[in-house]
Amino acid sequence: MQEEFSLSTTKRQELIAITDKVNSIIKKSKIKQGICNVFTAHATAAIIINENYDPNICLDLIDALNKLIPAGIWRHDRIDGNADAHIKSAILGASETIPIKNGELELGRWQSIMMVELDGPRNDRRIIVTVLGDKD
Ligand code: ZN
Repeated sequence: MQEEFSLSTTKRQELIAITDKVNSIIKKSKIKQGICNVFTAHATAAIIINENYDPNICLDLIDALNKLIPAGIWRHDRIDGNADAHIKSAILGASETIPIKNGELELGRWQSIMMVELDGPRNDRRIIVTVLGDKD
């Protein structure tokens, strides 16, 4: 089963929790044991799994990425000024795969699935969720 949804972002860089949306797709799929792949179809966004209970972790991640990969110093910046966003997206990755057990994502207590906007704000960030497995 595959389902897509889209997100609007409001900042150049931000993390948006999508665990609830992914969970509702898994419920609909009725898959009990299997895997769930969450993919974003963009070269300047990413999918990660981490904690968002303390929102400072999200801000710290953005600060760390900006220290490692500063904006404005790369060849691609001559084209559209967003080379840092492409590099951050490539390092973080466009997808995550999570096991499903008893119809639930097997996330750890502090793990949440998040879409990372790296070159926003954008109106239509596509997230594709693919659920594979057994219904019994
Ligand atoms: Zn670009």
